[in-house]
Order: sequence, then structure tokens, then C-alpha cells
Amino acid sequence: MASANPMRALVLWDIDLTLLDLRRIGATWLQDALTEVTGRTPVEVPSFAGRTDRWITAEMLRRLGVAATDELVEEVQRAAVLIAAGHRDRIAAAGIELPGATAALRAIDALPDVAQSLVTGNLRPIAHYKVAAFGLDAYLDLDIGGYGAVSELRADLLGDALARAAAKHGGGFAPRSVLVIGDTPHDIEAALAHDTRAIGVSTGRYSAAELHAAGAHTVLPDLADTEAVLALVNP
Ligand SMILES: [Mg+2]
Repeated sequence: MASANPMRALVLWDIDLTLLDLRRIGATWLQDALTEVTGRTPVEVPSFAGRTDRWITAEMLRRLGVAATDELVEEVQRAAVLIAAGHRDRIAAAGIELPGATAALRAIDALPDVAQSLVTGNLRPIAHYKVAAFGLDAYLDLDIGGYGAVSELRADLLGDALARAAAKHGGGFAPRSVLVIGDTPHDIEAALAHDTRAIGVSTGRYSAAELHAAGAHTVLPDLADTEAVLALVNP
């Protein structure tokens, strides 16, 4: 179907270990919320890397033998947002921006007809607290992002972002005009599920070889080379 969308590219960023390293601030917000809501303390905490907050919450409940109903998951998520709000003033001091993150976002923001947002496993308010702590929200259209409450599956978050971006910009983006940038095989798999371009950055716990093996079209060591990031948008 013909699209009236005048934009030529959509860039969707992961946050944790792609743009920012928050040095584990936030690592216990979901666990603390789960304890607050259920009175139970998760003993086995799953790896968060590339996972959605909805999956992490449901998985912690399942490992406790508690049914992860939508109602309970959402109650835990609301509690986590309140806990995060209480800590948001500490985010900037606790973490760091990864090399080149601000410069990359600013350079893409300056390109005409390119939209830029997030696909992150974080809940939307928490994603906002994190990027705003480093001033990155100035370059991102948070309204068209995909966030962690949507689904346990990261690919669904990307699907939500694509739908929001299409609605806002008057038509769907061609999948190959969409760049999904993240540090884990889950980011790459989500991108491939939608046939978008999958860009790995090896600033997280996964090597370039592992991201290539997951199917990444390109892997950058980090975001320090702004020209290299821009070249992905302007191939
Ligand atoms: Mg990440």
C-alpha cells in the first residue's frame, strides 16, 4: 500500500548499555516493587539483559510459584514506577552516558526527515526518567517509542513503536528505513522479526561476534564515532 509518510528514516534506540550505563541503579526497582505488592522476595532474579520489564516481572512471579496475571504484573509495575520516581534525582549521579551517545542522538536529530525514539524494555515513565537525567530526551520523540509494559516479547515493543510512528507520520515506514540499535541478541532478534535493520553495539555484556551471530547487520564497538553512526542512517 502506498504510504504518504514523508519521513525517510526511523531510528529506535535501546537505553541500558546502549546509550547509558546506570551502574545498577534501577536493578532492584522491580524486585522491591514485587516484594511490596506480594510480600514475597524473589530469590532467583533473571538476567535483565534485553528483556522487557513485563517479562522480568512475570518471570520473577513464576519463579516464586505465583501466577503472573495481567492484574498482578501491572500492580507490580505501578509500584516500580513509584519507587523509580523516588530515585530519579539520583540517576544522573549514579550512572554514565556511554561514549558518544549524546553526540550521536544530536547528530541524527539534526538530519531532516528522520524520526528518533526508543525501543526499550523499560516501562515508559522509567525510560523517561533515565534519558531525561542525561538530557537525551531533547533528541527523542518519546511518544512513538516502544516500552516494557506492552509485552513480554521485545519484538512486540518494536511493533508498537512502528505502529505509533506510522500513525504520527502519516504512514508506515519501510522496514529497511528503520534502524534498531541495541546491545543484546534480544534487540537484534526483535529487529529481524520486523525485517528492520539490526544494529548492535558491543558496550553491553555481548561481544561483536555474539551480536553478529544473532544476525546483526552491523555492529559498532560503541557510539564514539558519530560519523559511523550517521553513515548507518545515510547509507
Ligand atoms: Mg540494553
